[in-house]
Amino acid sequence: MDSKEFKEAAISSIEEITNYYETIPTRRVVSSVSPGYLRTLLPQSAPQDPEPWSSIQSDIESKIMPGITHWQHPNFMAFFPASSSYPGMLGEMWSAALNGAAFNWICSPAVTELETIVLDWLAKSLGLPERYLSTGKTGGGGVIHGTASEAIVTVLVAARDKYLRESTAHLEGGGKEEEREDEMMRKRSRLVALASGATHSSAKKAALIAGVRFHPIPVGAETGWALTGRAVGDAIEELRARGLEPFFLAATMGTTDTCAVDDFGGICSAVRELAPGRAGEDGRAGMWVHVDAAYAGVSLMLPEVREMAPLEALLAGEKDEGCPVLSINTNMHKWGLVNFDCSTLWVMNRTHLTDYLTVMPAYLRNQYSDSGLVTDYRDWQIPLGRRFRSLKLWFVLRTYGIKGLQEHFRKGIRLGELFASLVTEEGGKGRDLFEIVTGPAFALTVFRVKGKDREERNRRTKEVYERVNAGGEIYITSTVLGGDFAIRVVASTPFVEEEHVRNAFAILVRTAEEVAKEEGG
Ligand code: PLP
Repeated sequence: MDSKEFKEAAISSIEEITNYYETIPTRRVVSSVSPGYLRTLLPQSAPQDPEPWSSIQSDIESKIMPGITHWQHPNFMAFFPASSSYPGMLGEMWSAALNGAAFNWICSPAVTELETIVLDWLAKSLGLPERYLSTGKTGGGGVIHGTASEAIVTVLVAARDKYLRESTAHLEGGGKEEEREDEMMRKRSRLVALASGATHSSAKKAALIAGVRFHPIPVGAETGWALTGRAVGDAIEELRARGLEPFFLAATMGTTDTCAVDDFGGICSAVRELAPGRAGEDGRAGMWVHVDAAYAGVSLMLPEVREMAPLEALLAGEKDEGCPVLSINTNMHKWGLVNFDCSTLWVMNRTHLTDYLTVMPAYLRNQYSDSGLVTDYRDWQIPLGRRFRSLKLWFVLRTYGIKGLQEHFRKGIRLGELFASLVTEEGGKGRDLFEIVTGPAFALTVFRVKGKDREERNRRTKEVYERVNAGGEIYITSTVLGGDFAIRVVASTPFVEEEHVRNAFAILVRTAEEVAKEEGG
C-alpha cells in the first residue's frame, strides 16, 4: 500500500468509522454469534495474492461486526466502560504512524518527555499530592502502562525486592553477599501480599506472577464492602504471628463489585504503626501500599469527589515521608475518554521502581542513560518496548479540557443517581420489585430483585439478569456479595443519556414482572 492508496483507504475507513459511531444505537449491543463463528467465515489460510483494500474493508461489516460487543453503545451498562473518543483515536493513529519501541529516552525523546509532562498535568488535575509529580521533592512521577493489571504486577514485583533488600540490609557488605542472597530466598517463601476480598483479581494475579502468598482480608456489608485500618492491622498481626511477612497491600478507590472506597486514613495509620517505611532491627522492612483507582480514580478531577472523607489521607493528610501509599493507578481508558490502553501509574519515588527493575545489558547503554539526566521508562515497567500512549492522553486533555472531562464525569454520576432513584422509588416503593444493595457510587448501582426469602430473591435476580442479557437490548453484569446474587448497572459510557437509563430501567421492570408472574406473583 503506497501513500496514495493509504490516503484513500484511510478516508474511506474514517467515513465508515464515523458512520458506525453515529449509528451505534441502532445495533444490538451484544453480539449474537456462537463460539467459533468466525472460522466458518474466513479462509483456512492467509491469501497468497494481495487483496485490494475495498475487499478487506467490506469484511469489517460482514464478518467482524456480527461478533462485536458494542462497548460505546449507550445501552452498554456492564463491567466498567472502555470509553473512546475521536481525539483518542487520532492519538492512536499518530502513535501508529510514528511507530517505535521507545523504551529509553534516546529511542525518541519526545515519547518519554511528553509522557512525564502529561502525567504531571493529569496528576495535578486529579488533585494528587505533589509527591507523585515528577517535579516534586520526593522524586516521584508517572508512567503509562497498558492496563491496571500490568501496573499492579509491576509495583508488586518492585515492592517484593524492595522489602527483601531492605529487610536484609544488615547483611550488606563485609563479604556476606551469599548469606544475604540465601536469607532473601528464605524470606521469599514467607512474603504475603495483602488485599481485601473486594480487591480486583489483578492483585491476586500479580501475587501469583511474583510468586508470593496472597491474603484477601474479608470485607462485608457492615463497612460498605470497604477495607478498614482495623482489619488491616489485625491481618498484619495475625500473619506475623504465623511467621509470615506482609510486605504489600493493594487498597482500592472504587472496587469492581460496588465501587467501595477503602478507608485510606485508617489503613495508613495501621501500616505506619505496624510496618513503618524503614528497615527495622527485627529483619522486617516497611510495607508498600498501592492504591488501585482503576475506574473511579479519574473522577478525582471533580472537587466534590475529592471531598469524600475516606480520600482525605490519600490526597492531603499524609506527610510525604510518612505516607505508606507509595503508588497509585487509574485507567484513563475506562471512564476517561482515552481509547484503550492507557493505565496511568504514579509513584512517590521513582527509585522505588528503578532500583529494583533496572537491568542494564551493554546493548541498552547510552550516554544519556549513563548521565542520569533522563528517564528511561523501560525501568518503570515489565516489557522493554513501549507505545507512544501519551499522545492520545494529550489529545484528549487538550480537546476536552479539564472542564469538558468534568462535565463527562458529572453526567455519569448524575445518570447513576437517576438509575438508583428509579430503583428505589419506582422499582422499590412503587412496585415492590427491587432493592438497592449498594450505590449509586461513581455511576454504579448494585441492586437485586425482592423475594419472600433469600432463595427466591437470588433465583429471581439471576433469572432477570439472564433474561435481560439474552434479550440483547441492554448489556449489564452481575456480582455475588456475601453469597447473594446482585445486578450491576453502570451508566458512564460516552453516549449514554437519560432516555437510555430510563429505557434500561423499563426493561428491568418488565422482565422482573414477567418472572414474578410466571412464578405466581
Ligand atoms: N482494578 C479495578 C478496581 C478494576 O475494576 C479493574 C477492571 O475493571 C482492574 C483493576 C483491571 O483493569 P485492567 O483491565 O486495566 O487490568
